[in-house]
Amino acid sequence: MALYKEKHIEYIVSLDTHVKDYQYWLSEHLRLNGTYWGLTALSLLDSKDSFKKQDVIDFVLSCYNEDGGFGAFKNHDSHLLSTLSALQILLIYDSLDVLTDQGIEKTVKFITDLQLPNGAFQGDRFGEVDTRFVYTAIQSLAILGRLSSKVVDKAVEFILSCANFDGGFGLAPGAESHSAQVFTCLGTLAIADKLDLVDVELTGWWLSERQVENGGLNGRPSKLPDVCYSWWVLSSLALINKLGYIDFAKLREFILSCQDEVTGGISDRPGNQVDVFHTIFGLAGLSLMGYENLVPVDPMYCLPVEVGKKIKKWPYKE
Ligand SMILES: [Zn+2]
Repeated sequence: MALYKEKHIEYIVSLDTHVKDYQYWLSEHLRLNGTYWGLTALSLLDSKDSFKKQDVIDFVLSCYNEDGGFGAFKNHDSHLLSTLSALQILLIYDSLDVLTDQGIEKTVKFITDLQLPNGAFQGDRFGEVDTRFVYTAIQSLAILGRLSSKVVDKAVEFILSCANFDGGFGLAPGAESHSAQVFTCLGTLAIADKLDLVDVELTGWWLSERQVENGGLNGRPSKLPDVCYSWWVLSSLALINKLGYIDFAKLREFILSCQDEVTGGISDRPGNQVDVFHTIFGLAGLSLMGYENLVPVDPMYCLPVEVGKKIKKWPYKE
């Protein structure tokens, strides 16, 4: 089966022109994340220019709040998830300077103020805690070149407290292992330059067990496979140099079987409705496996490798 590149580009661009149509676009509370997923998918398809750069930047700035964070949409409260998406989009466009130095100071303060004494991060001022938000905060600060030992050391401590005996990681200490959390934990450790603290054989084994009979990957034992895990599991394996634990040919066929050849886009499982979330993570998985001449993706950031190179590596050399 082939990858319907042109169809996928049309599909992603159509999302932008149906802004008012909720059938086509994601609901408002995911709009900024959705824009990042769409732009990154287009970037991997080498078609970033299919989005109008100035329109996207104007939209990102319309989501900026006085507290220095970004909401998912104009007039929405700031959240770490939408803040990271905003920064990733601006980085892809080489446009972080639109924030101004003063604006960036406020963004750094917004992020660091959400760190708790145990090193975890709340997603917003309402207080939900999850290893996802640690990754989100640390990548955001990395993009801004504003990591510090004070923030990073505590964050690493918290991430390590979420490691389980089976080799996986959970969303909080003692929580069940889950592939998406393994990615956010390994991603944080990678940015913090602390992957040497991971038992890569054990974690690699747990991740390799995620491939099921039809080639797809699941999030936890005895769950159905889902295309987005092509990213969470593969990127984790890439970070610890264990990509060889997965049968690429079978996973590729599974991802391609989730395409809609009429409308474009990729779904979670064959025959289901496509969406931009599964489209980007399906493409990113194929890119990590080196298929279809896709633009190479960086497993640490879920950005094109070339964009990831613009991020200053921690620890900073003075
Ligand atoms: Zn999914």
